[in-house]
Amino acid sequence: MSLTIGVDVGGTKVAAGVVDEQGCIVEKLKRATPSASPPQTADSIAGAVTELLGRHDVDAVGIGAAGFVDETRSSVLFAPNLAWRDEPLQKEVEARIGVPVIVENDANAAVWAETILGAARGQDHVMLVAVGTGIGAGIVINGQLYRGRWGIAGEPGHYRVVPDGRLCGCGNRGCWEQYASGNALVAEAREFARRSPNAAVRLLQLGGGSVDGISGPQITEAAHEGDAVALRCFEIVGGWLGQGLAALAGILDPGCFVIGGGVSDAGDLLINPARAAFEAALPGSTYRPRAEIRLAQLGADAGLIGAADLARRALTQERPGAAPGPAAASETEAAQSTAPLSGPEPRDGPSPSRRTTVANPPTNAITASSAAQPGTSQPMNMVKSR
Ligand SMILES: [Zn+2]
Repeated sequence: MSLTIGVDVGGTKVAAGVVDEQGCIVEKLKRATPSASPPQTADSIAGAVTELLGRHDVDAVGIGAAGFVDETRSSVLFAPNLAWRDEPLQKEVEARIGVPVIVENDANAAVWAETILGAARGQDHVMLVAVGTGIGAGIVINGQLYRGRWGIAGEPGHYRVVPDGRLCGCGNRGCWEQYASGNALVAEAREFARRSPNAAVRLLQLGGGSVDGISGPQITEAAHEGDAVALRCFEIVGGWLGQGLAALAGILDPGCFVIGGGVSDAGDLLINPARAAFEAALPGSTYRPRAEIRLAQLGADAGLIGAADLARRALTQERPGAAPGPAAASETEAAQSTAPLSGPEPRDGPSPSRRTTVANPPTNAITASSAAQPGTSQPMNMVKSR
């Protein structure tokens, strides 16, 4: 039984796990991420991996990193929430642990895991949208991870949906993730609470009496209780999410969207308004097969499991030291697409991507336009990319 380690490096913590060929986690541990210092981040990753190496015979390590990873899967070009700038993470970690390492974007690792083992099993055209603090995404086309020319495909969180809209951490204004993420949910709730404290009494109570004390999990809690303001916040954010998915369907035509990330823990509260807005915004909606919108199944472990599986594949299909140029890289991709999967079910069977039903249409469906905020209501599929 071959074992690999998957590591998920987020802005606040490192999670590392030993994963077997079936995608089962044998052992997992967590460390804090010293995000301000790249050498300390590498130390933290290496520390967690070294501890696991002491107890397991491991062939390779895959690191899923929240950032732009280059096409050779060795360096992090840029990470919005960590101090990595052109960071040779593969080299740094290999030097510390002495085991082959690959680096992959965390959402790429997550979509890979959901496709071989999770919500999108059996699908060949999948887009995962991770709704967390911001928005991450990973794309599978024809059963292969799609990385783009430079390795950084799949960053729709910074697609502009509102010209001159809310300021984003990337430096631009009006990015999708400012309207359809966990941060957006909190922003909506706080705005409501500021504007109408009497209506937002439950949210304020959960927030300890202050507008700035209101957090994402509290909004979910209030919404589960039936609080009207919290439910409205989910309708707005889910509405923006669905509009964005409609625009992405126009570009990629996936069979399935998988919604992951921390906010997806809210389940139907987020997904139902997203499905309604998706249907309303999808061009030619009535006359075309529609992608399903599904909740992720592997939760917070998806990135770790996917990174471990990608490391296993890299080990068997790429020779050490053979830095692939574009041609070699595409050969590797082709080899990957025909390689047997470690997951329990092949993905190249009949795809249900022609299914046209959208499960559980909400009775309190909001329209795409009602989801938009006053003054910022330009639909995503009508505006130009930056
Ligand atoms: Zn942005």
